[in-house]
Amino acid sequence: MPECLFCRIVKGDLPSRKVYEDELTFAFDDINPKAPVHILIVPKIHLPTLVDAGPSEQELLGHLLLAANKIAKEKGIDGRGFRLVLNCNPEGGQVVYHLHIHLLGGRQMRWQPA
Ligand code: AMP
Ligand code: ZN
Repeated sequence: MPECLFCRIVKGDLPSRKVYEDELTFAFDDINPKAPVHILIVPKIHLPTLVDAGPSEQELLGHLLLAANKIAKEKGIDGRGFRLVLNCNPEGGQVVYHLHIHLLGGRQMRWQPA
């Protein structure tokens, strides 16, 4: 079975535009950006969806949010604002089954539940 797309990006087996990395987290530009800043923040371990996370992932989940915080500051959009999106399972619009947080910024966001 072919390995997960984002696992391959984390390993460097597939190219990406890396914007941040630490011991638990990897972040890169989305290939199809929906905003001037559109970054995907992923755990280095393979975790398919948010609902696969349990108490042992508590630190990791907090880590992902703090990574978003750091990246927003590095990109200079912390004060203007930004949006984090986490799609989960089919009706949530998830397409890639390796947990990821979208960091969107650089333009005014509108509430679009669709
Ligand atoms: P989601 O619908 O939440 O699963 O989002 C998956 C995201 O991954 C989409 O925004 C895609 O544009 C993005 N994506 C898919 N393949 C790649 C890739 N090779 N490099 C960067 N982003 C990707
Ligand atoms: Zn994976």
